[in-house]
Amino acid sequence: MISHRLVLATRNPGKIVEFRRILNEVSSDLGGEIANYKIELVGLDQFSELGDVEETGTTFLENALLKARTVSEQTGLAAIADDSGLCVDALNGAPGIFSARWAGEHGNDGANVEKVLSQLERVADEERSAHFTCVTAFVAQDGSFLSEEGIMRGRILRAPVGSNGFGYDPIFQPLGSGLSTAQFEAKAKDAISHRGQSLRAIAPRITAFLDALG
Ligand code: IMP
Repeated sequence: MISHRLVLATRNPGKIVEFRRILNEVSSDLGGEIANYKIELVGLDQFSELGDVEETGTTFLENALLKARTVSEQTGLAAIADDSGLCVDALNGAPGIFSARWAGEHGNDGANVEKVLSQLERVADEERSAHFTCVTAFVAQDGSFLSEEGIMRGRILRAPVGSNGFGYDPIFQPLGSGLSTAQFEAKAKDAISHRGQSLRAIAPRITAFLDALG
């Protein structure tokens, strides 16, 4: 059995769990086709000596590639990274690539949610459309890469609802649903989410790439 070690270029334990869950689902869907090798996913937590990669790109794709490429070069392994965010139409696509640090401090979900709600205070219900975007990138040891984008459309609520998920989930309602994504069970969110879509699209391409390496 051939084994490929891939690094997930994130220190976010929630994302590692989500990546594993979705990639496992896709791999078992592919069944026999990948039965001749095993993919071992390791998190960045196994490489404590590496610093954080600064997200200096101007698009989700640039940032995802930057993270995957840097971690692949640092570890000598193939790497997978994603970059994602919330794009609000009434804010001309903001917070976009700045989603994690929209209120200043990186990863302060409560403050980020409050900032978006206050920016949309005077925006009518029918003008509160938004979407989440996720770009996942895979960079191989030879530097070649693959990427896939996923989008989940919906609208911004007037107040937070629900306690599942993270980030802007409590104020985002997917198109066609009466719930916020913070009221979805994890698997139900994966089925429609931007991250789920981009991972399901890239996973078979990664396995095909590894297959071709033999
Ligand atoms: P990243 O870790 O650089 O991709 O930052 C993504 C940021 O976008 C997160 O910190 C959240 O604020 C937001 N975000 C991305 N995906 C989601 C999601 O599925 N739910 C809620 N917020 C999200």
